[in-house]
Amino acid sequence: MSKLLKFQTLAIQSTHTKDKTNGAVTMPITLSTTFDREADGTYKSGYIYSRIDNPNRHLLEKSIATLEKGKIGIVYSSGMAAITALFQTLQPGDHLLLPHDVYYTVSAMAMELFGTKGIEIEQVVMYDLKAVKKAIKKNTALIWLETPSNPQLNISDIKAIAKLAHKVGALCAVDNTWPSPVLQQPLCCGADIVMHSTTKYFGGHSDVLGGCLILKKNGNLAKELKHIQKLTGAVPSPFECWLITRGIKTLHLRVQQQTKNAQKLAKYLVKHPKIEAVHYPGLKSHPHHKVAKKQMTGFGAMLSVQVKGSAKKAMRLTGKLQLFTTATSLGGVESLVEHRKSIEGPNSPTPNNLLRVSVGLEHIDDLIADWKKALG
Ligand SMILES: *Cc1c(COP(=O)(O)O)cnc(C)c1O
Repeated sequence: MSKLLKFQTLAIQSTHTKDKTNGAVTMPITLSTTFDREADGTYKSGYIYSRIDNPNRHLLEKSIATLEKGKIGIVYSSGMAAITALFQTLQPGDHLLLPHDVYYTVSAMAMELFGTKGIEIEQVVMYDLKAVKKAIKKNTALIWLETPSNPQLNISDIKAIAKLAHKVGALCAVDNTWPSPVLQQPLCCGADIVMHSTTKYFGGHSDVLGGCLILKKNGNLAKELKHIQKLTGAVPSPFECWLITRGIKTLHLRVQQQTKNAQKLAKYLVKHPKIEAVHYPGLKSHPHHKVAKKQMTGFGAMLSVQVKGSAKKAMRLTGKLQLFTTATSLGGVESLVEHRKSIEGPNSPTPNNLLRVSVGLEHIDDLIADWKKALG
């Protein structure tokens, strides 16, 4: 497929197939776990057993790699399975650098599963380049970025941090779940690895769990990760692959429109007297707006607000909003709102009065009116 095609075209073309036997224009779901073997021991279809590969997964992996401008895509049964697979490539004695405000399950998983096995884990304020420079050591093997971060939407400079990582021979990986490749393509900014929870914008309809890694090079790391995928089997089912592949076809349209809605909602809320702060990188007042502008083509459909008053007051507001469902997760067509601190626990750095908002595809006038009414 031509690299010159625009994202929207690539999304459609990379997920398109034509069935040779019946002409179906979408890929059938191949549920078969095993594939025909020839008398000479070979596999004519190229498929052996569906933990190793299957047609629906193959199409999804190719498409995801194309959209992130990578050489290889590897998909998993969840975002966490993808991150765990990558951390499994670390060796005892390696130093892993995580953002202080990383997606909280990532730090918990890293500490509980890898911190106890000789991997040195350190959290740093990733948007502070001086702090990152200071934290990098000779044994730093991987720097993990999440930008914008969850839930305070801090922005870290991918290009600058990838450069610092490469100086000591470390890899730079970016959790690109929130912006999606529509708005940010970290491999083009110097990162080596991109990760997505495809549960979010790729799936887009809050009905499928998935994750992926995309690598800039098809080298030894790719080989090792493919091997881990085969050995551990944390793979999505053909139906899950099919749902995520279908989501890709409308990814650009959804993310662009949801971003427009979020930008308008942020502008409205930042002026509201009952809102203490709005965290959205698209606002000129955001402390990292310039860095965001440099590496993103849009500022995304996620924002968070701090409501004036207590945690209780913020929580009560979620009940007053009628078009924003109170639920965790993000990236679906429906707007969601969530009080984060009560989910993350007392040790999280998230402010007590913070609500995280995933802006959906409803009409923006209705969404703003809903906040207006709820804030009273
Ligand atoms: C949801 C999410 C994850 C975890 O993905 P799962 O699919 O839930 O395992 C990781 N990072 C970010 C930024 C997320 O939003």
